[in-house]
Amino acid sequence: MAAEATPMGSARAWLVETGSPILLFVSLDLFVTLLFLLLSTSPERIGTFRPVDTVAPKLAELLAAGFALGLLASLPQRRLDLSLATICTALVGLLDLDHLPALLGVAQPVRPAHSVTFLALEVFAMFVAFRRRKEVPLIATAAFLGHLAADVGIFAPLTPFSFEYVSLDSLTVPLAVGAAGFALAAGYAKRRGRSTRTLTGTPSGGRGRVRGWLTSRPWSSTSP
Ligand SMILES: [Zn+2]
Repeated sequence: MAAEATPMGSARAWLVETGSPILLFVSLDLFVTLLFLLLSTSPERIGTFRPVDTVAPKLAELLAAGFALGLLASLPQRRLDLSLATICTALVGLLDLDHLPALLGVAQPVRPAHSVTFLALEVFAMFVAFRRRKEVPLIATAAFLGHLAADVGIFAPLTPFSFEYVSLDSLTVPLAVGAAGFALAAGYAKRRGRSTRTLTGTPSGGRGRVRGWLTSRPWSSTSP
């Protein structure tokens, strides 16, 4: 029996599938936080940590938003995609790791990873690291936009090129719509990728599904 067909094998595959993008994200977030801190000057380091009693409700709100986006990504696949939902939930919640210096009492710029610079870096890294999983950079973008839609206050979108702080509160709806669009795109990309892997013979989990998909295609008669 194939390793991935056992509960232990499936759990390990799920852990790798979800853990690798999350680990890459955490590394990038912390790297950018440190780098942009070093690139900022004292007057720009006005970031603060929110009152401790508001951390849990805010985190719950973010995780709920991330899971909702994960559910949206599941729609094109017509099944709950626990991997995409987990990645999206984690990425929405973990973006706030860029508050870490303030938590440790170090003066820092406001939300350095809540910038288009970080998004560009993240999408590039995800695209390179997960070439065969086109849904990963898409769900990462959905998570980023979803987080920004749920946040209020000031940001410096062009950090570290400009530390001019602006409010994005008026952009909540466009950001949320953009997040939903990218989540759906991630779901479609994953469905398409799974179909492609099925065609090329890569294991996709389930002989019945493979046979059903193949027999529904016009070239099924040429399949072995
Ligand atoms: Zn935030």
